[in-house]
Amino acid sequence: MEKIKHHLTDEILMAYSAGTLPEAFNLVVATHISLCDECRAAADSYDALGGAVLEDQEVVTISDGALKATLKLISEMPKDAIKTMHARKPGIFPAPLQDYVGGDADSVEWRSVGMGVKQAVLKTSKEASVRLLYIPAGVAMPDHSHKGKEMTLVLQGAFSDEDGRFARGDIEIADQELHHHPVAEEGEDCICLTATDAPLKFNSLIPRIAQPFLRI
Ligand code: ZN
Ligand code: ZN
Repeated sequence: MEKIKHHLTDEILMAYSAGTLPEAFNLVVATHISLCDECRAAADSYDALGGAVLEDQEVVTISDGALKATLKLISEMPKDAIKTMHARKPGIFPAPLQDYVGGDADSVEWRSVGMGVKQAVLKTSKEASVRLLYIPAGVAMPDHSHKGKEMTLVLQGAFSDEDGRFARGDIEIADQELHHHPVAEEGEDCICLTATDAPLKFNSLIPRIAQPFLRI
């Protein structure tokens, strides 16, 4: 894998560690972190910081019986559950995403949205939405701006826009300031995981008409 060039911001990492992000963004952050040593280290230090703050405030005691009880629960788990926990195979999707989808890219129920582009909206809580996008090599997405935040993680291939080039592991964070026109690179179809907390603003008519049907 090429070196990751586009990372999460400290603000997002802190919010992730504090557990205040909507589920859709959480999934994108967790998936990036599983690919990126740099952001994982930062998230770990925020976790440690949060833990230290908590320790100052309250003393948490874990009863002697807790460990035994947990081990007993695990031993009583149905064999199938244990099997699915280990069913992940190395693929395009990193572990947190495979757990969410229940498999790799080949187990996604893609829906065509035109121009060869396919999407799959994942189930999450309502404050934000997250989808997988499959963009054939060389295809351009409609140019748009944003009414809220948009976080896009590349899982396969690459795309380029006004902000640069994004390849596997790279994350693009867009807000009201950014107007962009992502184009998938030639050579390999591009697969992205993208979360938004507000509808996009399209500049041309056709995507605007299609918008309610595509839930973007
Ligand atoms: Zn990173
Ligand atoms: Zn965008």
